[in-house]
Amino acid sequence: MRFLADQMLGRLAKWLRILGYDTLYSNAWSDAEIARLARAEGRVLLTRDTRLLARKGLKGLYVSSEDLVEQIGQLAREGYLDSRPPFTRCLRCNVSLEQVDKPQVLGQVPPYVYETQDEFRRCPQCGRLFWRGTHWQRMVERVSGAAR
Ligand SMILES: [Zn+2]
Repeated sequence: MRFLADQMLGRLAKWLRILGYDTLYSNAWSDAEIARLARAEGRVLLTRDTRLLARKGLKGLYVSSEDLVEQIGQLAREGYLDSRPPFTRCLRCNVSLEQVDKPQVLGQVPPYVYETQDEFRRCPQCGRLFWRGTHWQRMVERVSGAAR
């Protein structure tokens, strides 16, 4: 399942990436570009705009809530989510993260993080490092709870 989120759904797009889903998003795309991309790549268009949804040849879903956890819940209820490992995709670039050995990140992450975390992943595109900090962990539990 691959998604394209419209301009209004940036937060949902970010969290779908964190949950492991390939999700395109840009707030710079016009409605026409969004529709063209969704069609060309066979992506499910996530939108709160019924006019955008009515464009021909689109697989789309009207996202009914403005609340992130409810949005994820709706996607799950309607069968768009399966259980994937979170933290496998860059929330900025939408590309798959690569596992890195802990010693390789020494000096690149705050000392506290190095001491308390064992698993690190790196985005091959932007080079950003990811780990499951406690704040993220709590948020992931909350949104993946909604996804169940
Ligand atoms: Zn990246």
